[in-house]
Amino acid sequence: MSSARKQCLLLFGPPGSGKGTQAEKLVEKKSYAHISTGDIFRENFRKETALGAEAKKYVDAGHLVPDSITLGMLKDAIANLKENQFILDGFPRTLDQAEQLEALSEELKFDITKVIFLQVPDEVLFERLTGRRICKSCGTVYHMSSKPPVKAGICDKCGGDVYQRKDDSKDVIAHRLKTYEQSTAPVKRFYEEVGNLVILDGAGTPQSIEKKVLEIVNK
Ligand code: AMP
Repeated sequence: MSSARKQCLLLFGPPGSGKGTQAEKLVEKKSYAHISTGDIFRENFRKETALGAEAKKYVDAGHLVPDSITLGMLKDAIANLKENQFILDGFPRTLDQAEQLEALSEELKFDITKVIFLQVPDEVLFERLTGRRICKSCGTVYHMSSKPPVKAGICDKCGGDVYQRKDDSKDVIAHRLKTYEQSTAPVKRFYEEVGNLVILDGAGTPQSIEKKVLEIVNK
């Protein structure tokens, strides 16, 4: 077994900023593993696990899931990685989580090499999130105007049901964006001080943003 430390790329930004989309591209092109705390919660809902049952009320309401649930889950995901490099998406979301991640990086032996912040204006986030749909079975993400499934309500990839996440409803989105502003913006300042933060304009097309992300990753 290799004793080298793993490399972690943090993809960071408000809900709807395209973290998941960009992570998918990096997984395809650069053989990163992808850990998304939101995806792990949704996987637990699908599998109807005890963790999923505990987390669901927070996620559906657009609240942050308590650290007592989230941290253990994240630790397991990182500890079980086979790849040497991974993208972390959706964590940290609070200053406290950023500090806990530092401790975890020592315990599990990884370095946070880069932090990419995708900056997107609120009105664009709102449009992306209200139009977003997702496959219940495989998690493929669609958008009602820019990338609808060929057959309404059916996933192009696996034939699963395409649905709207409960937390992508208008009221919950407003709450999530507010939570983001209050809890997550200090995380941006944290990494600004650490000195490994790169701010990217995330308002363009997925392809144009991918190009910029790849430039940063390849540097
Ligand atoms: P996302 O898919 O990243 O938008 O996350 C969906 C939801 O999962 C969030 O609105 C939170 O309820 C929950 N969640 C994801 N990541 C975290 C985290 N780091 N801390 C607490 N809750 C989280």
